[in-house]
Amino acid sequence: MISEDTLVPTNYLEKYDLRNKVAVVTGGGRGIGLACAEALAQGGARIVLVERDEEIARAGAATLEAAGAEVHWRRIDVTDAPALEEAAIAIEREIGPVDVLVCAAGIAISGIAAEDSTDAQWRQVIDVNLNGVFWSCRAFGRAMLERRRGAIVTVGSMSGVIVNRPQEQASYNASKAAVHQLTRSLAAEWAPRGVRVNAVAPTYIETPMTRYGLQDPALRKQWEDDTPMGRIGRADEIASVVLFLASEASSLLTGSVVLADGGYTCW
Ligand code: NDP
Repeated sequence: MISEDTLVPTNYLEKYDLRNKVAVVTGGGRGIGLACAEALAQGGARIVLVERDEEIARAGAATLEAAGAEVHWRRIDVTDAPALEEAAIAIEREIGPVDVLVCAAGIAISGIAAEDSTDAQWRQVIDVNLNGVFWSCRAFGRAMLERRRGAIVTVGSMSGVIVNRPQEQASYNASKAAVHQLTRSLAAEWAPRGVRVNAVAPTYIETPMTRYGLQDPALRKQWEDDTPMGRIGRADEIASVVLFLASEASSLLTGSVVLADGGYTCW
């Protein structure tokens, strides 16, 4: 039983209200990032998509606009730290204070044995998946720290927790494990200054990134069979977690790596 003095009257659904907030989503033009942008827009946030490809950015923005969202986009490669610093200042000035950052931009190089992978392949994955997340958090986190307010969500992976078979993707797995630890490090540093940093770690999700595997019936079946829930995830199922982590509904969470993996890592 909850005693009267501990029960604070609470409107739980209001905690998801993101009206008057600006949310930046890297890799927000398609896949998981686009679903996250859609969820945040439904919460009332104004959206800024960050994409390196103009066509993907325009297509994502058009999808969100058709659903009634206020959406802006910037063509930026997240491996370009100075461009992110400049964009953070410009977005704050032209669109408004950024309260939410979702780092969804990512790439994977799979099916190349570790001993056969080139320096360039290794660097490319680490540069986008790890450095890109750090540069983004640093650029957009600075103003959040000044205001003592903000929520950052990084997109890690179950591949940062376990090694899923049969893929040969050491660079991807290492980059995602590093994203989880980066998330926890920033969370610990920034919690006293009002900024929360959490990660979502998805299982296989149906997006352009996993198309190569999902089109192969044998591989798809293996991925499903390896998952206790017996199925592949959808981008909206990750976006729901991101909406929670970006909103006041998760006000006590920071440094959490939320597995959204259909039970994959239980086996
Ligand atoms: P997609 O490939 O569908 O989307 C990723 C988006 O990020 C693309 O629009 C891509 O554009 C963009 N992007 C890539 N590199 C950069 C860059 N350097 N600068 C700016 N934008 C960039 O992938 P998903 O939606 O599946 O993945 C989103 C995130 O979720 C990634 O971090 C991924 O690692 C993670 N994830 C995905 C899982 C899955 O099963 N799909 C499982 C676990 C985690 P471009 O086409 O130009 O590369």
